[in-house]
Amino acid sequence: MKIKRGDMVVVVAGDDRSDIPKPVQQVLDNGEKVVVEGVNLVYKHVKRGHPKSPQGGRLRMEKAIQSSNVMYYCNTCNRGVKLGLRYTSDGAKERFCRKCSTTVGQVSPPRTPYAQ
Ligand SMILES: [Zn+2]
Repeated sequence: MKIKRGDMVVVVAGDDRSDIPKPVQQVLDNGEKVVVEGVNLVYKHVKRGHPKSPQGGRLRMEKAIQSSNVMYYCNTCNRGVKLGLRYTSDGAKERFCRKCSTTVGQVSPPRTPYAQ
């Protein structure tokens, strides 16, 4: 999966489907699941002594969703798009938008020539 933490995504399927891009907080299960801010909110019941709720009670928190339900949000296209991977001429690997082919950042650095 090409979605990374911090990416903006749109949820395209499921109960929380919407057109508004939201940030990815966590990528789990080797990319199969993602936690998206404000999406799939559940109540977690916690005991006393929890740092976020010393008295105990219910915490509102996000639960992971299937990453197939989200699409990367391209700022150029202003919509959810598919991402591709490609190598640049200097050997760096980058992700790019399959619609407008804009780069969305390096995945690995340029190839460094071996010292002889
Ligand atoms: Zn695009």
